[in-house]
Amino acid sequence: MKRLIQTLMLITATTLAAPVVSAEQIVVYSARNEHLIKPVFDRYTQKTGVEIKYITDKEGPLLARLKAEGANTPADMLITVDAGNLWHAAQEGVLAPLESETLLANIPAHLRDPQKRWFGLSVRARTIVYSSERVNPGELSSYEDLADPKWRKRLCLRTSKKVYNQSLVAMMMERLGKEQAEEVVRGWVANLAVPPFSNDTKAMEAVLAGQCDVTIVNTYYFGRMQSKDPAIKLALYWPNQADSGVHVNVSGAGITRHAKHKQAAIDLLEWLSSTTAQEMFAGLNMEYPVNPEVETAPQVQAWGDFKGDDTNIAKAGELQTEAVMLMDRAGYR
Ligand code: FE
Repeated sequence: MKRLIQTLMLITATTLAAPVVSAEQIVVYSARNEHLIKPVFDRYTQKTGVEIKYITDKEGPLLARLKAEGANTPADMLITVDAGNLWHAAQEGVLAPLESETLLANIPAHLRDPQKRWFGLSVRARTIVYSSERVNPGELSSYEDLADPKWRKRLCLRTSKKVYNQSLVAMMMERLGKEQAEEVVRGWVANLAVPPFSNDTKAMEAVLAGQCDVTIVNTYYFGRMQSKDPAIKLALYWPNQADSGVHVNVSGAGITRHAKHKQAAIDLLEWLSSTTAQEMFAGLNMEYPVNPEVETAPQVQAWGDFKGDDTNIAKAGELQTEAVMLMDRAGYR
């Protein structure tokens, strides 16, 4: 015990006496997976010498931790996926609004918080995937059309518990009005071939297995399956091209209210929106860069151009509670 105390004292003394080589350090809480952020952070550290410490977890625990830590939080930045989650974090008061001409210039207005508390960093399209063996793309047109009786027992969906679908339905409510949106969701439920799946990949596997013919997924999940099997008998379809466009969402970030390294964190956030970082940030997950100046990765580009919905994605958060209730009423589990 005595030795332990001596050792601890020695460590403390050494730490205190050590010259400060770089005071610059940033702490990030990330719900985006480590393999998607580490290479980007490493690049930043190489370039600037700024050390980035991070922990990764699901958005729920990270938000609970931020709230519990309050003013004592070591976190300077929160990275998470889906505008529904970013909106929720902002609503809980853990993010600080910030003024940055760079972020306003690099990120289109509909992909960031109008109150400047969070900013999209990559775009994900939630679109229709169909069996290229059993569906003629000419049969497809819109998310709403998947409620048509012609798709009876041909539709697969991921669970309504996932924020991705809550955001999709929330944006549909904004676009079509609540009543019409509910009718669409009821139609989807009526057309389900099998109960909803726990994730996008399982829904696509069901289409491949012939359990159903169409589903709705984030394109990067399709990309992962396509990378494993380039001849996969699935294809992407871009719905609503004549009207609202494809439902797009973001992964993004905000600076915490109690950031200890606020300016350093803002510098990192601005860099993440720049051309240098964007290619990596989006490309690592086969997503689309949020910065329109940046090229999309070749595999993603090969899926073709589409028109995306340009309604501010903050609506997905604002209408989330109502969307959840609507899905519940419509029997979407
Ligand atoms: Fe995902």
